[in-house]
Formats: sequence, structure tokens, C-alpha cells
Amino acid sequence: MQLDGKLSRLAIPSKGRLQESSEQLLKAAGIKFRQRERSLVAHVEGLDLAVLFVRPDDIPILVAEGAADLGIVGRDLVHEHACEQRVQQVLDLDFGHCRTCVAARTGGKIRKVKDLAGRKVAASMVHSAREFFRLRKVKAQVVEVSGSVEIMVALGLADAIVDLVESGDTLRDNGLEIIETIAPSQAVLIQGRRVRDPKLCERVRRRLEGVLTAQQYTLLEYNIGRAALKDAEKIAPGFDSPTISDTEDPKMVAVKVMIPKKRSVEIMDKLESLGASAILETAILNCRL
Ligand code: AMP
Repeated sequence: MQLDGKLSRLAIPSKGRLQESSEQLLKAAGIKFRQRERSLVAHVEGLDLAVLFVRPDDIPILVAEGAADLGIVGRDLVHEHACEQRVQQVLDLDFGHCRTCVAARTGGKIRKVKDLAGRKVAASMVHSAREFFRLRKVKAQVVEVSGSVEIMVALGLADAIVDLVESGDTLRDNGLEIIETIAPSQAVLIQGRRVRDPKLCERVRRRLEGVLTAQQYTLLEYNIGRAALKDAEKIAPGFDSPTISDTEDPKMVAVKVMIPKKRSVEIMDKLESLGASAILETAILNCRL
């Protein structure tokens, strides 16, 4: 496919941990495209937008330089490539959660970051690691490795590592434990400072935001006596505010309210104790708020 200069561009990972979730999120948001075998570009149906399938490491730079308008990438990589001032992080995408950590041998001599003065630390994210030790004024030698960072202490290459940790299982399997967490990360939508079509970028952002909100919220409907309405609103205040409708019984109202999915059972219990009846929970597939 030829890349028309006017077409906006969204860069997504062509491989790795964030690839599948990125594609699923775009699909749920109605950003549909068909990737031809080995093609690095696909046109999005119904939008003046092309999807670029690129290495995750390149995404911050592509967006910062304006070669792409939008990108989906881990926040850790935006930092590693020193692009925080050069791109805007316009939406947290709630997947790819992890944290950049310093880890050392479990129960070993290295207990704190300052114990690493004069010692070697293996990292693939060398810029983030060097910056961390510089800011902490600890003179550690950061050794660059490109993968399998967790094994470097056992191999004797380094006394500690700086790496991304999700559950901590890989660290444990390699006899390591976290001695300090540097920063949390998750997948983010990034946008360039000067984009081809700002309205289209905002439309893509709103679409993704709608899907994410729908994933986190659920719709609750219930009937309650007018006298208890104020207390019910305190339990479930809603995203903006609840929708209240009259019922045939002048003492009762019907309420529709969005609530955080994680708290739905607890909120239903509380509303029931207040005297609410006909409490129904329905999934929200997509929304714009
Ligand atoms: P990749 O190396 O291409 O598989 O993707 C790495 C990206 O996934 C990182 O930049 C992080 O944002 C995210 N991620 C989430 N959990 C982890 C983890 N345990 N290790 C490495 N990357 C992770």
C-alpha cells in the first residue's frame, strides 16, 4: 500500500506483549483494518487513517518526529527514548501494566540502591537505568544487555538488574527480589505535537476512551423510595450523575446509574439494605461520556 501524505498514521507494535491487546482495543473501537501478509501498513476502513506495524522501540521516536501522528506503546519506552516532552500521552490504555525495578539476589548483600555504588547493574533500558542512578547520586556501572536481563546476576555479569516486572514470577525464578521500584508503566496512546489532522486524532482518542470506560463501568438500574434517594446517590453517585425517572407510585423513583464494575456487588448489597428493589446490572459495550 502507498502511504498518502495526507493520511494520518497510527503506529502500533508489530510484535511483543502489547501487540495483541493493541489490536483488540482498536477492533473494539471500530478501527478496522486488514493487514496483508508482511505488509507494514494497513488502511483503516472509513477513516483517513493508516495503521503502521512497527517495532515497539521505534514508536516513541516515530511519533516525536512526526512520521506517525499517534502511537500505542509502553510508557516505559517513552521515557527510555527521552520522548516525554516531545509527545503527549493522551490516554492510559489499562493494559501492559508493569513497573521498572531494581532487583538483586534474594537475601544477598545488596539490600538498598546505595549498596550498588561501584558495582555493575545489567539493563536493557540503559538510559532509564543510568538516569535513575545519576539522580540518586549512586555511581553504579550500567552494563547494556539486549534480553534475558534476569539471568545476568546468576551468570556473574552484574550484581543487580534494572528491568520491567509484571508479577515478579520471573525474578523469583531467577533468585532475585525487588530492592526498589523506579516507576510504574502501562500502555499509553501517544500523540505528536504537530499532527496531520488534530480532529481525527481526537476522534481516535475518544473512540478508545469509550471502549475503556465501558470496560471499567457497568449500568445499574433500581427502584427506590424518594426518601432514600439522597443516601442511594451517596452509595452510587454515577459517572456524571444518576438519571432519575418517576414511576407510577409517586413515592418511588427509578434510577439509572453507571458504577465501577469492580464494586458492583458491594454497591448492590448496600442499595438493597437501603430498600432498593428491582436492581438490575447490565454490561455497557461502548459509550461516549
Ligand atoms: P515487548 O518487549 O515488545 O514484548 O513489550 C514490552 C512492553 O510490554 C514494555 O515496554 C512494557 O510496556 C510492557 N510490559 C508489561 N509487562 C512487562 C514485563 N513483565 N516485561 C517486559 N515488558 C512488559
